[in-house]
Amino acid sequence: MNIKSYQPRKLSIPVTELEQASFCQLDDNLRSKTLEEEFRSGVKWQKVPNRYLKMSPAEIDSEVKRMKSIIGSKLYILGHHYQREEVIKFADTTGDSFKLALEASKEKNAEFIVFCGVHFMAETADILTSANQKVILPNMAAGCSMADMAPSEDVQDAWNFVSSFSGNYVPITYMNSTAAIKSLCGENGGLVCTSSNAEKAFAKYLEKGKKIFFFPDQHLGRNTALSLGVNLEEIKVWNPFKLNGGLSNEEIKRAKVLVWQGHCSVHTRFTVDQVEIAKNEKHAKVIVHPECTNEVVKSSDYTGSTEYIIDVVSNSSPGSVWGIGTEINLVKRLSLENPDKEIFCLDPIVCPCATMYRIHPAYLLWVLDGIAAGLVINQVEVDFETKVNSKIALDRMLEL
Ligand code: SF4
Repeated sequence: MNIKSYQPRKLSIPVTELEQASFCQLDDNLRSKTLEEEFRSGVKWQKVPNRYLKMSPAEIDSEVKRMKSIIGSKLYILGHHYQREEVIKFADTTGDSFKLALEASKEKNAEFIVFCGVHFMAETADILTSANQKVILPNMAAGCSMADMAPSEDVQDAWNFVSSFSGNYVPITYMNSTAAIKSLCGENGGLVCTSSNAEKAFAKYLEKGKKIFFFPDQHLGRNTALSLGVNLEEIKVWNPFKLNGGLSNEEIKRAKVLVWQGHCSVHTRFTVDQVEIAKNEKHAKVIVHPECTNEVVKSSDYTGSTEYIIDVVSNSSPGSVWGIGTEINLVKRLSLENPDKEIFCLDPIVCPCATMYRIHPAYLLWVLDGIAAGLVINQVEVDFETKVNSKIALDRMLEL
């Protein structure tokens, strides 16, 4: 068989990953400033009409409230747990990406679904909602640095190479990926998963003797495979910047799981040292997200999705102490909602997810003003063919 090789890509760092550092700070005052002030840190966010740049957070707050009541039941706002306080307070439902995907698929009445989250989540909502519903992302620049590490064309080329080489591979993609990658998975017998159901998704195929090519988070892929008993030597990393992913033919044949070399710039900040300090000096239980490295996961007491973290910490006994390895806005909210417990972020430097942070409340107001005036600003639409195949992959996930 004539197998076309995979050509390496030019090394580039997603701009979102570079921007991450702009919002890291030592004090934990995460209150929003005017959009104009936030623009001064040199970020490249979507342009908005001038009037929104100078509005104070208090003015925006009362205008968003007013617009919500004017638009009424035609509007449904979804808010991801990593959103800032000034935005999530307006959400009709909050959740992690899995819960919000379910909520979007169940919502049948609202004409406008405003997604306060990132681009791949809004795409997923568009796939799961009906044709007469419009999904809106307040700031089109709100992507995800991890999703940006797996451009759809590179994933397609890598998949073509690996699948023509060994027919036993199945593609699985993390929710944090483009609709085109979800579509590739649907078309090729695979599915989408989130951190809540990655183990079930992997087990479904491994139990049948299949091999998995997982995109785009190497850490979730590795942690999941290891938890199901796959040996570390049977997990290989596909490096998109190297010829044929940097792997020999023999390595691809022997591997049980290939993981794309992507990572989350928020969760890879956590270290084993931070876990040790939390345990030994603060006598805390440590709970982390599976996007953390395997060393961090191994040294922690508990690992699980955002909803799992909320559940475990909220249901723990009064007086318990928790060191948490996930996004700071969620950790701060958990701490406020559980005043009877001591809750802190493992990382002493406060670093919100830079792309979730791009949903400044002024953007929310801008799109709501648009709806009230009969204008749909920032609609996220997935093309029909991509929608059909990615829905197959999402439905397979929802059936797990
Ligand atoms: S926390 Fe990480 S994976 Fe989640 S949106 Fe931010 S960069 Fe992407």
